Amino acid sequence: MPAPDPLSAAKFNAARQVRKIYADLAARPLERSCALRTDCCHFKLTGKTPHLTYAEALVAANALRATGRKTLPARTDGACPLLDPKTSRCLIYESRPLGCRTHFCAAAGGPYLRTHVLDLIRRLEEIDQDLGGDGSHPIEKSLTTALSDF
Ligand code: SF4
Repeated sequence: MPAPDPLSAAKFNAARQVRKIYADLAARPLERSCALRTDCCHFKLTGKTPHLTYAEALVAANALRATGRKTLPARTDGACPLLDPKTSRCLIYESRPLGCRTHFCAAAGGPYLRTHVLDLIRRLEEIDQDLGGDGSHPIEKSLTTALSDF
């Protein structure tokens, strides 16, 4: 990922650490099989919304900008704003947040147990503290903040 100008070196390094966490999760022998049903992207139906720390939001915002978008797409149906209404696919699937990588629907094997990923959550929290963040926030809020910082 190129250095996201005009982000500071600290933010760029934080984003790199977040990507390492995603890679470490992918390397774990936790059997799940996401078939891109996108059921979990319809927050109004699931009653659950991914929460992102600022560093995670930077990664997602950078990926969204790479699609040519500078603002968060609008959704009025309670689905994730990153779910493309034309394709019904995630606009940033390779950069999706930890919550989207661990909360699988029943058909995909169900969510990971918190104990299986607690160390990764702790690492995200440490990165957030180092950046002076204020914890995690719902995806729409955290992404709006991150996008405004590019
Ligand atoms: S970021 Fe992508 S995978 Fe996660 S809820 Fe939104 S559309 Fe779905």
